[in-house]
Amino acid sequence: MSELNPLLEQWSAAFGLPPFERIHPEHFEPALRAAMASHREELQRIAKDARAPDFENTLAAFDRSGRMLGRIVAVYENLAASATSPELQAVQRRMAAPLAAHRNTIYLDEALFARIDALHRRREQLGLAPEALRLLERVHLDFVRAGARLQGADRARYAQVMEQLAELTTRFAQNVLHDESNWTLELQSEADLAGLPHFVRDAARQAAVERGLDGFVLTLARGHVIPFLTYSQRRDLREVVWRGWVSRGEHAGESDNRELARAILRLRREQARLHGHACYADYALADTMAGSRAAVQALFDEVWPRALAAVQREREALRAQMQAEGVSTPIEAWDWRYWAEKLRQARYALDDAELKPYFALDAMVQAAFDCAARLFGLRFVPRDDVPVYHPDVKAYEVREADDTLIGVFMQDNFARSGKRSGAWMSALRWQNRNTPQGGAELPLILNNNNFARSAPGQPVLLSIEEARTLFHEFGHGLHGLLSQVRFARLSGTQVLRDFVELPSQLFEHWLAEPEVLRRHARHVRTGEPIPQALIERLQAAQRFGQGYETVRYTASAIVDMAVHSRSEAEPPADLCAFEASLLAAQGVPPEVGMNHRLVHFQHLFSGSSYAAGYYVYLWAEVLDADGFEAFREAGDPFDPQLAQRLRRWIYASGNSVEPGAAYAAFRGRAASVAPLLRKRGLADVDAQPA
Ligand SMILES: [Zn+2]
Repeated sequence: MSELNPLLEQWSAAFGLPPFERIHPEHFEPALRAAMASHREELQRIAKDARAPDFENTLAAFDRSGRMLGRIVAVYENLAASATSPELQAVQRRMAAPLAAHRNTIYLDEALFARIDALHRRREQLGLAPEALRLLERVHLDFVRAGARLQGADRARYAQVMEQLAELTTRFAQNVLHDESNWTLELQSEADLAGLPHFVRDAARQAAVERGLDGFVLTLARGHVIPFLTYSQRRDLREVVWRGWVSRGEHAGESDNRELARAILRLRREQARLHGHACYADYALADTMAGSRAAVQALFDEVWPRALAAVQREREALRAQMQAEGVSTPIEAWDWRYWAEKLRQARYALDDAELKPYFALDAMVQAAFDCAARLFGLRFVPRDDVPVYHPDVKAYEVREADDTLIGVFMQDNFARSGKRSGAWMSALRWQNRNTPQGGAELPLILNNNNFARSAPGQPVLLSIEEARTLFHEFGHGLHGLLSQVRFARLSGTQVLRDFVELPSQLFEHWLAEPEVLRRHARHVRTGEPIPQALIERLQAAQRFGQGYETVRYTASAIVDMAVHSRSEAEPPADLCAFEASLLAAQGVPPEVGMNHRLVHFQHLFSGSSYAAGYYVYLWAEVLDADGFEAFREAGDPFDPQLAQRLRRWIYASGNSVEPGAAYAAFRGRAASVAPLLRKRGLADVDAQPA
């Protein structure tokens, strides 16, 4: 069997890339089952080793184990996200439970944990190198947080709690999807479309076609709702759409998330108690850079009063704009984005049609490569001859200034059926120097975007937000490519979740640098660089509306932290009432509101990785704003010495160094919140006592 299954063969293509053209969905189930069995054998050899546990025979061996399973899962997950099929989806449904069970057999293996725990107790006496000590601490924590320390009834109960959480969070996500796709609004006439730009009409037309309808249909997909609220001149329809949008998950019946979210909160509190924490937030934050609720609260305290003051100023400006147009109705929640867009147009006269010709996709890809060249000396050499999983994918070998090969980068930029929405970075292989064969492995890194294709023969033009997304994901990609660690578990982006957005958000700053824009943002037909006046308008517009965005984001993060910080066994009896009273107490204007209400807050309830963790974007933004400030202070966005420290401590060190220490080593001090406040235009706002 195995000699017929390309997933189980040695991969002999360039760079050890998978033989994509020979891999078919039916290969995955037998290959995954065989690889799980062989991983279990490897782990048994470690657990039952007759020798006393030491770092090499236990931790380093554990880090080397499961490589075959790892490479198969990487191909499987990448294809499932970027090039799926009904056959592959059927495999996923069959294999979800066996893969989850495999994870449990690893982390609940008592003999294996006993060896790791014995070493962990003596970790200071083992004379380990810093990275080895970090691996021991990291792997030990992975086991502990997965329940390895629990005994007897607690252990059995923990497994039940985790199983139930997996089931309930899946249902929560399906309910939101149900409410988003079942709600539609048919736009019957030209009057219903008043104010909508072409791209909104096109999307609504597409939704109608998918439903076999004439005309235009709006759904509650985010890509429909936000543009409609921004551009539609029909105040009555904006209200209808807004009400549909904010009530997702709150409809009695099959898709009601109100009790479901309470059940999830009840189980999480029990999970935290089994780990000895009073509340779920304490459990979640124990494995973050922030470390404690107090540290997160301190960040909220810096930002919140300034954001509230800024949003008041923005409301005054909106009122003035409305008055100028002779409108005297109050500003309701469904009015804010519409009037903010009018004001933005009036102040900065930025429209996509004027900007987009300066942001051709190919030029922006070259801009990202050029920034990586000027900062880190990297070269991206196209390799059209290596295997890829779809013709859209472009592959590059990545080389140092001295020509040393450091990895492979693949970019898959276009939306298509069979690919999920959004943008993300992933890996087919992580950089490490701890392979079973005794050598090193270079990283194979992917970026996925979902840009719309252009008409045949026409260049693909990006909006400024799309160009920023390209840079963001490329920043994650560099975090994978530049990794220089020994152990696979500590490689690349496998860092704490409130640190992982630093390399990506930081890289976005270079796109906004006038020097980079002048060099790369050239008019697609004339080749003329973007005019200085347009750069200035872009920069001025960057801070526009930040009060609104900051209040909505931070209000959501505050509610997340509050609902996960309760130590009572029972969640609030009425989550919607709990949320409303908290927002009122915080002084959130109802016409501003929050990004995600609890009943459809997928970050919190469609999985657990962002529960008590919505704050992480703001946390990372403190670091990226402060980090880029270092280049401003140096007077050169490509300052060589600073770039060298940035590479060593932020992009190359993975999880081998405690993130606070890594940041301080790059910056020479801990991060300050002031640059974030300046970036968001909140620094000059007087904070009123809350
Ligand atoms: Zn990101």
